[in-house]
Amino acid sequence: MNYKFSTILFVCLFSVLFIMGSVQAYSSDRDIRVGIWANQRNILVSADTDYQIVNADNHKLLEHLSANEKATIVFNASGFTLNGKRIDAVRLSILKLKNDNEHSIEINKKQYRGDIDIHITNGKTGMTVVNTLPIEEYLYGIIAKEISPNWSLEAVKAQAVAARTYALYNRNKHKDDGYDVCATTDCQVYGGRESEVPRTIKAVDSTVGQVILYQGKLIPAYFHSSSGGFTENSENVWGTYLPYLRGVVDYDQKSPQYNWEKQLTPSEIEEALSKAGYNIGTLKAIGISPLTTQSINIIDRGVSGRVKIIRFIGTNGSIQLSGEKLRKILSLKSTLFDVHIILPVQKSIEFEITDKVGNQGSKKIEINLPPTSEKGFVTDRKDIHRISGRPNEIVSISGYGWGHGIGLSQWGAKAMAEKGPQDDPTYFKEILKHYYQGVEIKKLPKGV
Ligand SMILES: [Zn+2]
Repeated sequence: MNYKFSTILFVCLFSVLFIMGSVQAYSSDRDIRVGIWANQRNILVSADTDYQIVNADNHKLLEHLSANEKATIVFNASGFTLNGKRIDAVRLSILKLKNDNEHSIEINKKQYRGDIDIHITNGKTGMTVVNTLPIEEYLYGIIAKEISPNWSLEAVKAQAVAARTYALYNRNKHKDDGYDVCATTDCQVYGGRESEVPRTIKAVDSTVGQVILYQGKLIPAYFHSSSGGFTENSENVWGTYLPYLRGVVDYDQKSPQYNWEKQLTPSEIEEALSKAGYNIGTLKAIGISPLTTQSINIIDRGVSGRVKIIRFIGTNGSIQLSGEKLRKILSLKSTLFDVHIILPVQKSIEFEITDKVGNQGSKKIEINLPPTSEKGFVTDRKDIHRISGRPNEIVSISGYGWGHGIGLSQWGAKAMAEKGPQDDPTYFKEILKHYYQGVEIKKLPKGV
């Protein structure tokens, strides 16, 4: 064997060993524990095959039930009861006797794949029901809750990969509650078997195990409905710089929420602020710079134009809020908005006067206010919107997009998939690489 050949052989062998050691195939039967119900006093259990309820700690059989036979589990201060009978257990497992993909356990009339366990909720306030199943099957039950499964398949696939990445990234989020992820918007909305549709199953299966990695690590793959034309840098919304969550141009113009308007009276704003603990008295002005062209980065707005900070000036003082905080307080669709004060058309006003010798009367004066079609009454500074206090004055908040504007835009993904090549089954990667900068899409390496 000559030197050159043996070197090549060594390099090849080393590469194979390296690949085997570090990038082992993603195991699609990796399980995820989903907290599907918490704090329950009563649970109604059933299954479409014979099933058993066992003590999860010592595997002792507590009850054997036939297919479609119902069992009621109640939790109270003295412990569990099963169909009215006191049972000696602190953790329960529901086991299907035919443990295949066709059959489901039913909890509170909803069907679930995989296994079901029940434990006492922290604080002993009720029962927590945990559904343990392979992560791929979990994904079947969440995609249609996020986007329409009828969208172009590459968009549905992009959503599937983002959802898989997000779930794996967050798998320790509810460790203290005894499961990995919850089934609400706090993690991702999971509806069990009834939320599955053939197209979402296809999108999950055709991307099996694929995740979004940045420098070899899973990313928090945030997604939202539509950004309003431009996504935002992570630090401008949550204060944390993440290199892959950068503001990029969005293609969400066809989103029904691409633009929106919310009209509020000054007193409605005062009330909402006061409810949130900010008593500023009578609202006198709102301080925010005007929303101009996108891709700006000024002191109070991010790269997309999203509001970073906004000021409310009142008779009791002024406050400064983050855009996200205000979004919650006023239930706004996004923080990409502009503020205008609309004054009603008022041709003349009449007021009481007293003349020099004490006679009272009224006087009418003509005033010239802008018509309502011209939004934005001109005030003395562009970044201060003064409230005049005249009757029927309206604060108009006109905005773009729906959601936090970070990462994948679902309506943008839809538009990209429709415009992209229709015969390229890997185009979902291009969509993801646009919304998550500098990432790789591949099967999850071992140990990540
Ligand atoms: Zn959660």
